[in-house]
Amino acid sequence: VTRSEFVVVANRLPVDRVVAEDGTASWRRSPGGLVSAIAPVMRSRKGTWIGWHGAPDEVLEPFDEDGMHLVPVKQTAEEVELYYEGFSNATLWPLYHDVIAPPVYDRAMWDAYVRVNQRFAEAAAEVAADGAIVWIQDYQLQLVPKMLRELRPDVRIGFFLHIPFPPLELFWQLPWRRRILEGLLGADLVGFQLPGAASNFVRLCRRLLDARYLKQDVFWDDRIVRARAFPISVDVHELRKLVARPEVRERAEEIRTDLGDATIFLGVDRLDYTKGIAQRLQAFGELFEDGNLKPGQAVFVQIATPSRERVEQYQLLREQIEQQVGRINGTHGELGFPVIHYLHTSYDRAELAALYLAADVMVVTPLRDGMNLVAKEYVACRDDMRGTLVLSEFAGAAAELKRAYQVNPYDIDGLKETLLTALNAEPMEQARRMRSMRKRVIEHDVDRWAHDFLAELEQPHNL
Ligand code: UDP
Repeated sequence: VTRSEFVVVANRLPVDRVVAEDGTASWRRSPGGLVSAIAPVMRSRKGTWIGWHGAPDEVLEPFDEDGMHLVPVKQTAEEVELYYEGFSNATLWPLYHDVIAPPVYDRAMWDAYVRVNQRFAEAAAEVAADGAIVWIQDYQLQLVPKMLRELRPDVRIGFFLHIPFPPLELFWQLPWRRRILEGLLGADLVGFQLPGAASNFVRLCRRLLDARYLKQDVFWDDRIVRARAFPISVDVHELRKLVARPEVRERAEEIRTDLGDATIFLGVDRLDYTKGIAQRLQAFGELFEDGNLKPGQAVFVQIATPSRERVEQYQLLREQIEQQVGRINGTHGELGFPVIHYLHTSYDRAELAALYLAADVMVVTPLRDGMNLVAKEYVACRDDMRGTLVLSEFAGAAAELKRAYQVNPYDIDGLKETLLTALNAEPMEQARRMRSMRKRVIEHDVDRWAHDFLAELEQPHNL
């Protein structure tokens, strides 16, 4: 076994398997900020990444790829269903997002969650060198900190939650609330997107476990567990390189022409009930009903990336959104001028960057979102200082992007008004707001996020 000073534990490995036409399989680095933020640290510290490789029931040996040592963890098809689709995405995901959908509380799902978390903890215990840094990612693995500490009390354990942490009153529903909380308290540092989430956590420790605390430090098991906020961000460097490419610029122009030079409203989301897609389409449709917009004058491009399609709530959502799009286009569209372009597919980074450049109004209206990277990506791409961002108050990004047109997505009238205000913003006003938002995103990119988290984790913290 290769032992590492630096270990990342995440549900998925940072690579996807790609199969070529001749049937040969190879690995390609997964897109996205998290991987590009952690990859440099992995290389310089000879790190190991522990995660699932994506194929149910398949057992794979550790391998090296892209300068990283990767340790695949097995998941059976049943575990994917119960631990991943079940407890992670039908229980924890809705519970942590304000119970927008009712969470499923199922004991078999919980048992699978415990079992898979234990397997991840054992894999980490095996590869961590003496006193190593182990960084555990996200809601699928909340029991791993405690399980790992029991196996390896010598290592330093960090945990980062990418999604919101709910208020006590909601978390209380969870039949296994104590186990999850104790699981997290196995870490030395528990990171959240926002200070409010860290406060929720500390308050919960006090009320549920009667733990002593001082500000954001919880005293537990003769240790100090620090709760802190580290807002995640995007790979600004990568996005700037992307929008500098002539073919991306040309593609943006082509999109504008294809849409008849109408004003473009853009939404880019996984098809998820937390994203507020129905609310934004409702508001947009009503602007045509009221005569504030005319077909051909404005279009909404809604990219809805397929997501968690085996979970029932996601199947229902898809039917609901597709009916709604049909109804709005059927009522307000004209020959050659649909008012909504709905695309149930996923795009690569270059196409997304072109879409961001083409969009006049970026519409990001989640009902609850840990951060929302799409909002930050839009800002990072608009080096022309044009375009406006309509942003939900319930996205983590709202804490940083103060100059967005912020909105309560539950308030349809307010949403309609804000869409019109954003549409009519003068170029000077657009630039003023964009400059201020860009300053924030450029200074606080994903490298800074990873660096800040690890610097805090490596601080001495004796009682
Ligand atoms: N994304 C993508 N292709 C698509 C749609 C989205 O690569 O067709 C990316 C997008 O650029 C962003 C991420 O998926 O980096 C979505 O992150 P976000 O925080 O907005 O939402 P999440 O899906 O994590 O809830």
